[in-house]
Amino acid sequence: MATFMSTDGNRAEVPSSTITPVLVAELLAEGELMPVYVHVIDHPDARVLVDTGMTQLHPLVADMDPRLVPLSEQADFDLAGIDVVVNTHLHFDHCGGNHLFAGTPTYVQRRELDDARTLEDYTIHEWVEAPGVQYVPVDGELEVLPGVRLVPAPGHTPGSQVVVVETGGRPAVIGGDMAVFFGELDEPRDEGQRLVRALDPELVWLSHTHEPWRPSVGRRA
Ligand SMILES: [Zn+2]
Repeated sequence: MATFMSTDGNRAEVPSSTITPVLVAELLAEGELMPVYVHVIDHPDARVLVDTGMTQLHPLVADMDPRLVPLSEQADFDLAGIDVVVNTHLHFDHCGGNHLFAGTPTYVQRRELDDARTLEDYTIHEWVEAPGVQYVPVDGELEVLPGVRLVPAPGHTPGSQVVVVETGGRPAVIGGDMAVFFGELDEPRDEGQRLVRALDPELVWLSHTHEPWRPSVGRRA
């Protein structure tokens, strides 16, 4: 636990979490290799994995020529050490490793789960419905751990959510695909992007960029 003095002089306890990106795949998109990252939150009470990447090839996405580095084959990644899984959304490159965490509570917005289960061409259904995956459908905001909050961020998909991690200063956000490129956060257009900017985050981790987005200094109010 880190104790800090807030600006109005009140003491507040904020559990100190660290966020680590883990590269799990690269996909070919419009002629360029796009990284696929998942993110681990080490919180004093639990270890949270945000999105699970992919672990195998599939004919539906063969044109993206996936190059895989599955979590299950990374020597320094401890699958059993994950207490909680969060899916930002259920596109194939975010839920393809859910099967590795059968029996582990896997938080997703109910809207997203419904869409993934019912819409055509939305995702790879057998990866969503892998045996033993234990979804916890969420309606709206939810604090999964002290200082770690799920927040709906509709845009990339109607049921997308982001994870807001309190750090003692401005929050960190794990955004999934709420922006695929930095420009989408520089000039937010959809509800989710505007909502994340309104949180005034210190940084936003995204699934498909190597570095987190940070607000440009002169642009912040
Ligand atoms: Zn994605």
